[in-house]
Amino acid sequence: MAYERITWLPAVLRAAGLTVVEHAGWEKRGLSGGTFTPKSVVWHHDASPKGDSPGVPAYMIRNFEKAAAQLWVDRQGHWHIIASGRAPHAGLTKLGKPGNKNSIGIETDHTTGEVWPEPLLVSLRKGTAAILKHMKVSENALEFHKTICFPSGRKNDPAGLDLAKERARVKTNMTAKPVAPKPPAKPTTPKPPAKPKPPAKPKPTPSVSLARITKAAKTDPSTNKSSYPTGTKVVESALVAEKLLAKKYAEGYYGTLTVEAYKKWQRKCGFTGADANGIPGLKSLTILGKKYGFKVTK
Ligand SMILES: [Zn+2]
Repeated sequence: MAYERITWLPAVLRAAGLTVVEHAGWEKRGLSGGTFTPKSVVWHHDASPKGDSPGVPAYMIRNFEKAAAQLWVDRQGHWHIIASGRAPHAGLTKLGKPGNKNSIGIETDHTTGEVWPEPLLVSLRKGTAAILKHMKVSENALEFHKTICFPSGRKNDPAGLDLAKERARVKTNMTAKPVAPKPPAKPTTPKPPAKPKPPAKPKPTPSVSLARITKAAKTDPSTNKSSYPTGTKVVESALVAEKLLAKKYAEGYYGTLTVEAYKKWQRKCGFTGADANGIPGLKSLTILGKKYGFKVTK
């Protein structure tokens, strides 16, 4: 009969995303003689005091011949590898149930009545699933020490866990799709420098023809028509800004209200009498243009 060595353990556990601690000499550790052909996994608890018991692996190694298992899982869920060969973890077992020669024993840092730490349970299920898959057996190859021991009731470990439920959870882990490794982050290619924006085109300076605006001022009120809408609008906008004309009348029509507004502008410029008649002259229009940004042409 064969004596297998489960030297594949670290790789299988690490591939499942688990943390593995290899304790020196594990590869050669195991009960000598006899056979070892593991086809199942047996969960135990080590009955160490509540809380973290970091001394357990050393204890297991010192007392390996007495009752140790191949594996120990701590409360953080880290897997400690103690041996690769047969271990005396199961003791006497019921007929037809796995025993030392055909099962891998997993001890856990737990004792009766202690709350199972979630990281331990999550890792235990995940690692067990990976081991069973590697051995090409189903979740039913998971056993508990308390369910296989002979005589019945000799052992109560792992206390507080239900075999049927744990098999179901391990099955879930066995069927879960492996988490795809994240694709490497795309190398960030430096962005080409942003194209410099073409300088904003300066707005063309509007221009007002003195001849045309004068004509509009003279004729628009009587014809009721806008004879020079573009220039008139420029002048009216300036008058609005000067608060001499209501905005709603800046419509490009040099009507009587624009005439009145321009009169006020002329007075502001110092013109009086006939020189402040509301008809733009070169001087007042030039001053207005300089103040509000338009050119005066002929
Ligand atoms: Zn046990």
